[in-house]
Amino acid sequence: MYTYKQFGNTYFLSIENHQDLTEAFETFCEEQEIKVGTITGIGAVKEVTLRFFDPKTKEYEDKTFNEQMEISNLIGNITRKDGDVYLHMHITLGRKDYTALAGHLLTCIIHGAGEFVIQKIDGDVGRIYDEDCGLNLLGF
Ligand code: FE
Repeated sequence: MYTYKQFGNTYFLSIENHQDLTEAFETFCEEQEIKVGTITGIGAVKEVTLRFFDPKTKEYEDKTFNEQMEISNLIGNITRKDGDVYLHMHITLGRKDYTALAGHLLTCIIHGAGEFVIQKIDGDVGRIYDEDCGLNLLGF
């Protein structure tokens, strides 16, 4: 699923070709017992599902893009919700025509390289559902 090298609280991570990225991150965070952290990375993907949150309905609308794209930037944070790994990730993708597609990332399939850095933060942060905005916000 992945290979990695650890340097203190920093992990350099290579996600294997054809892997579901969200699944790989969740498995990695469970394995390494990461409760709080950050993710950054680049790579290439082929199937991407982004979601757009509609504040009126308080629901996400999902859309899948089946094309080869470059991750020009992925940034996210790691917390926990009810003990489970909770990832919040945004992504900017480069298309074949060099335009960009961006949004809140639900999942994608690595198609090529997947190179990420995960920074573990010592501590514990949960998520609490906020009735007003309809989102799971940081539970400090
Ligand atoms: Fe988001």
